[in-house]
Amino acid sequence: MVKPVIGVLALQGDVREHVAALEAAGARAVTVRRPAELGGLDGLVLPGGESTTIDKLLRIFEVYDPLRAAITAGLPVYGSCAGMILLADRVLGATHDQQTLGGMDVTVRRNAFGRQVDSFESSVEMAGVPGGPVPAAFIRAPWVEEAGPGVQVLARTRHRGAPTVAAGAAEGSTASADADPGRIVAVRQGKLLATSFHPEITGDARVHELFVAIVKE
Ligand code: GLN
Repeated sequence: MVKPVIGVLALQGDVREHVAALEAAGARAVTVRRPAELGGLDGLVLPGGESTTIDKLLRIFEVYDPLRAAITAGLPVYGSCAGMILLADRVLGATHDQQTLGGMDVTVRRNAFGRQVDSFESSVEMAGVPGGPVPAAFIRAPWVEEAGPGVQVLARTRHRGAPTVAAGAAEGSTASADADPGRIVAVRQGKLLATSFHPEITGDARVHELFVAIVKE
């Protein structure tokens, strides 16, 4: 697989930015709106946006069931922000009729860092991403409140604007002597990757490079 074909779910959200980041990371990016467009993909990105809206559109466009099946069958998927919420098996602060695609054994809290005005930019030290902290935009971002045993914690952040510590390979590791290890903001489970933040709007393609590497594995 020289140049993997990676779709970006294009129902709502910051699709263009993910397309650009994927191309910069060495993939061929295509937009996906219809069930038939899921075929032939090596991976898929669920963009940031509004998870309740994307959830509704997934069902209206009849992409929900085939995409769920594809995730179960092992399709590599990267979700940023709203995309992280969509990949979570459990959501806190969901609207009454909100569903997720699921696949990751995590509990995600929506809007955990606060409202739109509480959005912030930070830099995040992320396991699997060499070359120093990744510039990261948190926009009404979720965090991972609980991660199951099969989930690898890749990054944490203490609070908005604060520098982050690199996470250990697993929950409960003693990577940091700090009493407050911070909130989990990046996770991986098998071929599923999720970040609370948007790396796609900061012009740094390293998180997308990690996803491309996962796709190629
Ligand atoms: N708060 C949004 C949601 O619940 C996510 C925000 C984002 O993707 N930037 O879907």
